[in-house]
Amino acid sequence: MNDIKLALLGSPGAGKSAVLVRFLTRRFIGEYASNSNSLYHKRLSIDGRQLNLEVFDPCSQSSEVQCILQEPLLWADGFVVVYNISDRASFINANNILMQIREARMDNCKGEVEVPVVLVGNKQDLCHVRQVLEDEGLCLAQEYHCHFQEVSAAESYQDIANLFTQLIRQVMEHLKYR
Ligand code: GDP
Ligand code: MG
Repeated sequence: MNDIKLALLGSPGAGKSAVLVRFLTRRFIGEYASNSNSLYHKRLSIDGRQLNLEVFDPCSQSSEVQCILQEPLLWADGFVVVYNISDRASFINANNILMQIREARMDNCKGEVEVPVVLVGNKQDLCHVRQVLEDEGLCLAQEYHCHFQEVSAAESYQDIANLFTQLIRQVMEHLKYR
């Protein structure tokens, strides 16, 4: 059984918990506020392999990304960085987080980041009040050599399932060569 550890990072209210709960349960519940960090466990099978998935979802009340970040930054095998397309500040914060991941996980020999990351623009259903263009998300992801996907945790399951599956595949590839 392979263990895979993922962390969701992003501004409070970006929809980290909603995205994760959508993936784990296929449902959108609406309110996920929690005053503690959560660690979710799920067993799943991808490409015929049994996996033990652990996902860190930080406390939604904390605006101090900095202080909650240090541990998951070193702990996780892969990251889902979430922003809200209707909130530019959350996009700027996503940029900061990508920078921190790069700093924490840079392989100096290879000169590249040694951990898979996916950048997620959530709340696509709010595109009438969009503050971040899809192209901006794409450009940011290209800058950090990571995947990018716009999703709506409120409205759809499939995109979210696909992005987690893709990330987990990348992590599996990656761990194999360690
Ligand atoms: P977190 O602090 O990043 O974990 O954010 P939450 O998952 O708690 O979500 C914050 C708020 O945004 C909640 O009221 C959610 O119902 C709402 N929300 C999350 N995802 C979506 C989405 O895709 N569309 C819309 N319209 N609201 C969402
Ligand atoms: Mg949350």
